[in-house]
Amino acid sequence: MSDYVYLDHNATTLVRPEAARAVTAVISAVGNPSSVHGPGRAARKTMEEARRAVARLLNAEPADVIFTSGGTEANNLALEGSGRTRRLVSAVEHPSVLAGGGEVIPVDHNGHVDLDRLEERLLADDTPALVSVMLANNETGVIAPIGDVVAIAHRHGALVHCDAIQAAGKIAVDVIALGVDMMTISAHKIGGPSGAGALIVPGISTSSGAEIRGMQFGGGQERGYRVGTENLVGISGLGAAAAAAHAGLQDFARLADLRDAIEQGVKGIEPRTTIMGEDVQRLPNTTCLTMPGVDSQTQVMAFDLAGVGISAGSACSSGKTKASGVLKAMNMSDEVASSAVRVSLGWPSTAQDVKAFLAAWRDIYGRQNIDKISSPAA
Ligand code: PMP
Repeated sequence: MSDYVYLDHNATTLVRPEAARAVTAVISAVGNPSSVHGPGRAARKTMEEARRAVARLLNAEPADVIFTSGGTEANNLALEGSGRTRRLVSAVEHPSVLAGGGEVIPVDHNGHVDLDRLEERLLADDTPALVSVMLANNETGVIAPIGDVVAIAHRHGALVHCDAIQAAGKIAVDVIALGVDMMTISAHKIGGPSGAGALIVPGISTSSGAEIRGMQFGGGQERGYRVGTENLVGISGLGAAAAAAHAGLQDFARLADLRDAIEQGVKGIEPRTTIMGEDVQRLPNTTCLTMPGVDSQTQVMAFDLAGVGISAGSACSSGKTKASGVLKAMNMSDEVASSAVRVSLGWPSTAQDVKAFLAAWRDIYGRQNIDKISSPAA
């Protein structure tokens, strides 16, 4: 497995060494952050250090960071906890937002939310609303026009939740400059362990931000917004990953060159490939592209056999064979949607990985065409 080429970092990225060290240190230390004795105080210190690191990554105030069990819970807490029953969500949101219901606002062929429709729908009903639009899409890497979304939503008294799970640690994210009311992140997308995340609510600690209510009842942890003994192992990993990702932002930007090399390489083999969101701003690490005539799941299996890990649609929807909802929302034809795969690079990715991917792509595409020629009566 050691020479396996892992190109599915948007599903889960490799734990950064800094996070692995933090997790290892914390897992064998005793202490509950709520206890007043020495070990308890040490545990709290570890937790507050992690909170500061998360805050620094997003230019937030540490006291406005609420730790959760991951991205899904943070998204659920933002939506349900806001108490706003009228929700407007973009059509390309993650299931942890979409499945909560609400009015779905369409996107264009690049995956950008229809701003005119958003404003029209907000104007049509003055019930206080919550708008949820992700910063960067998990399947295509397309970056949303969040500044415009915020301006429109605030003009109509709506709150804005932004799922920044795929953007955090990959591009600079400033929760204050973006002006969103709530933002979510997840540890395992930035080099921390799975099962930890955070909801950031600017101003909640000074009662000047959005108001939310916790979803569980129990003790008073996380000031009541997320009760239950904190997952200190996960939180310390999240904090260390946030610090490392923050320090590594410049280095992460180099992945755009590798991503471009993948796209140019594929185009060199088959110019008819479709690259989603090619002409708009995207994350440096993500490409969603087609192998014309070859089913996405077939590609995923063939690449895996060749020692390259990629995905068809998001990891959450893989295993099911239906075409990606994101690509459908972008109005891609069935032919295009069913032959698209996501390749997502990560902090450890190298030019060698790109070479291996392109060699596999050429081989798999060539074999598919030979199969078709040799079995014309099928
Ligand atoms: N939102 C987005 C954009 C994601 O990519 C993911 C992870 N697939 C989630 C939410 C859910 O996060 P988690 O896996 O931490 O529950």
